[in-house]
Amino acid sequence: MAAEQQQQQIPQQIQSPPTQTVSSTPSTPQPQSTVPSPAPTPNQPSLLPARSTVTRGKYSIGDFEIKRTLGTGSFGRVHLVRSRYNRLYYAIKVLKKAQVVHMKQVEHTNDERRMLKLVDHPFLIRIWGTFQDANCLFMVMDYIEGGELFSLLRKSQRFPNPVAKFYAAQVTLALEYLHAHNIIYRDLKPENILLDRRGNIRITDFGFAKEVPDVTYTMCGTPDYIAPEVIARKAYNKSVDWWSLGILVFEMLTGYTPFYDQTPMRTYENVLKGDVRYPAYILPEARNLLSGLITRDLTRRLGNLAGGSTDITSHPWFREVEWDRILRREIDTPYEPPIRHAGDASLFEYYPEEELNYGVQGQDDYGNLFPDF
Ligand code: ATP
Ligand code: MG
Repeated sequence: MAAEQQQQQIPQQIQSPPTQTVSSTPSTPQPQSTVPSPAPTPNQPSLLPARSTVTRGKYSIGDFEIKRTLGTGSFGRVHLVRSRYNRLYYAIKVLKKAQVVHMKQVEHTNDERRMLKLVDHPFLIRIWGTFQDANCLFMVMDYIEGGELFSLLRKSQRFPNPVAKFYAAQVTLALEYLHAHNIIYRDLKPENILLDRRGNIRITDFGFAKEVPDVTYTMCGTPDYIAPEVIARKAYNKSVDWWSLGILVFEMLTGYTPFYDQTPMRTYENVLKGDVRYPAYILPEARNLLSGLITRDLTRRLGNLAGGSTDITSHPWFREVEWDRILRREIDTPYEPPIRHAGDASLFEYYPEEELNYGVQGQDDYGNLFPDF
């Protein structure tokens, strides 16, 4: 994440009516764990006292050398690490339990872990495992070396039409996959889209991803990208992600978001009004797709109509896209990140490092809130 220019995230979760309970579980295969053999620990889960935070036979922070910070978020940071076992690089997201609890993100954090474990898709981040110590939660993921799409976009100012289309096509396939498994992503933005060494995308940050068979009410997301029905605290469904896809494509083509304003409050007002000014250089077909996605009226929003996501994939702007080949990553990417060596993190912004206090055992007031970590 880029520190200053970063679009601000809504920290507090506001739940009006209760969220729908989850009734079904997607049956996606789980990633095969061939990575760093976790250090065997003598304790078996069932033998542990309820409040213990021993790492339960999983990884522990001692299994990794911590290299540098790749990004910081509202509740913790993401480090580049290297396995002491196989010498490969990974990214570890660390969340402070106390902060997660105080910001009422316990359910979201447990959902994040669960969703990451479920998904298996070429354009979604892969998780290898999780663990906790007395203070923190840890998620071990693939390290995606090419940096954020956000950084590339700011460097390029804006993308040419075919470049925007390439990334949009990959994002569309990822959203289609999530929605097919009843998962709403809810935080689509260029900071959460990473580029791998060949320049294909990997979406990270499942902090707001949720399994929702029909509708939900939680207010979450990022002001510039949030759909009007979420701001208005109405029931909403996966079509909030199609709205955000519209914002993303707009931002890729122009270099700015359509509802940007100086404060989140003003941005919300703009979103609710829904007036978009399309610069003349946006081609008619792109404009047509954008106005179909950035539509307040849910009965008219593309992706939410009888045709579902095929109304998007078959839209004239995507006419020449070979979807199967995009999915198989057979199409040449528009940009190959200049990665010099394994573990190179030069494409990520620099963040001041802070003193780390990981691996602490003992008194743990919140461990029982995160039973699956
Ligand atoms: P926020 O709540 O502010 O969106 P967050 O706390 O949810 O942030 P993430 O978005 O998951 O945290 O990660 C923060 C940043 O760390 C990302 O924007 C990205 O730059 C970097 N990052 C996350 N996962 C990876 C990964 N697997 N490989 C490389 N970098 C990563
Ligand atoms: Mg993020």
